Amino acid sequence: MSPEEFRKHAHEMVDWMADYLGSVEQYPVRSQARPGEIYGRLPETAPEMPESMADIFADFKRDVLPGITHWQHPSFFAYFPANSSPPSVLAEMLTSTLAAQCMLWQTSPAGTEMETRMMEWLRDMLGLPTDLHGVIQDSATSSTLAALLVAREKATGWRANDEGLAQLGAAGITPVVYVSEEAHSSIEKTMKVAGYGRDCLRKIASDDDFAMRVDLLEKAIEQDIADGFTPACITACIGGTGTGAVDPLRAIGEVARKHDIWLHVDAAWAGSALILPETRDMIDGVELADSFVFNPHKWLFTNFDCTAFYVRDPQALERTLSLVPEFLKSREADAVIDYQNWSVPLGRRFRALKLWFVIRSYGVSGLQDIIRKHIKLAEGLYAAVQAEADFEIISPLRLALFSFRYHPSGIEDETQLDDMNMQLLETLNDSGELYLTQNRVRGRYTIRFSIGQTGTEQHHIDNAWAKIQKTARTLGV
Ligand SMILES: *Cc1c(COP(=O)(O)O)cnc(C)c1O
Repeated sequence: MSPEEFRKHAHEMVDWMADYLGSVEQYPVRSQARPGEIYGRLPETAPEMPESMADIFADFKRDVLPGITHWQHPSFFAYFPANSSPPSVLAEMLTSTLAAQCMLWQTSPAGTEMETRMMEWLRDMLGLPTDLHGVIQDSATSSTLAALLVAREKATGWRANDEGLAQLGAAGITPVVYVSEEAHSSIEKTMKVAGYGRDCLRKIASDDDFAMRVDLLEKAIEQDIADGFTPACITACIGGTGTGAVDPLRAIGEVARKHDIWLHVDAAWAGSALILPETRDMIDGVELADSFVFNPHKWLFTNFDCTAFYVRDPQALERTLSLVPEFLKSREADAVIDYQNWSVPLGRRFRALKLWFVIRSYGVSGLQDIIRKHIKLAEGLYAAVQAEADFEIISPLRLALFSFRYHPSGIEDETQLDDMNMQLLETLNDSGELYLTQNRVRGRYTIRFSIGQTGTEQHHIDNAWAKIQKTARTLGV
């Protein structure tokens, strides 16, 4: 494709993109495709001969779009958001065009140096300690993996990477990790990947507010030490996925310090809200943390993927992950950061650019305004749900997340309530008008309501709530 042809197609597609962003509400929020439907629309074999961009683009609209769940639809209330914004998309276009691979400083100095600067901007925007050093990762899961790997190295006297956990186990060294039972599944996944094994994950019970019980944490640690295990890491959760749980960071931090255990903080979703000074009591004690992760790709209007991972001791991170064969050596290595040493993958996209575009384009105050609006919308809806006798709040409002269920009077059978709410959720999602997801809270099936799409306004909330009530009250009628 010549640059002139590229220009023509790019203009057409940008026109489509602008139309899409302006009319995303015409689509069903959750794709209505059936399993196998999109696969069946794609030819069985690759084309032997070149095809025209016009044909490819037409097929994109006809065969691909029906299989898209519209995360940027303002009635997307499922999971957590993965919101985006026009400045972020524009930056992604430039990133794709440059297609630079930023694994080393030398392979694009701007990629590395802008990343360092953006991580400083974000750190200060969130009110995090200034001795934290950041790196952009592809996901919170990868960041937690990196944290668990460093914790493993430190706890084993830097032996695990060299000797392997099997040998260390034979020598009586078995590192263990602590999380609250409310913690995200990614912690358990990284336990598998990092070789600790799931059996070495201690899930600490939470209190009535879903926060980790620090008394039980201490007990578990003391028991493990008595039993000959090596406590390596505590992962505190700030804004859990199910209920938005917030662990008591300072108290956990003090336990971590006392026993010299790595403290990792998972604030994947809630971290973005820390740009609002009024939310920062959530991270009281964060100066005790060794690492901290949050996802600008969730709630900071920056396209997936963009995870901000902070560590207090980057040398420990590098010592754990760095491996520099001859072909990756560079003249400047001693004077610069080569971020490949700070993460599991070698190759790296230029992800800092979209942060630079987004933060400059909105300004910190503009970003604060939207997140404040989301929280205010959630407060209003929360009060409305509380006010209806046949609806029940299951987990309280945290920032812009709460969970509820339909619970008409006279029905007390838990299985029947679970089934009813499952049916409510599926009916709502099949309507295409809104998208919600479920959770189990202390055994009960609940519907989560999570607000955070960039364009969500009061009328989207009002419409959703009207739809939920009407659908619930006609269930089984
Ligand atoms: C979303 C989420 C994660 C996982 O994030 P990825 O970036 O998709 O790996 C981890 N922890 C919490 C609390 C989350 O909300």
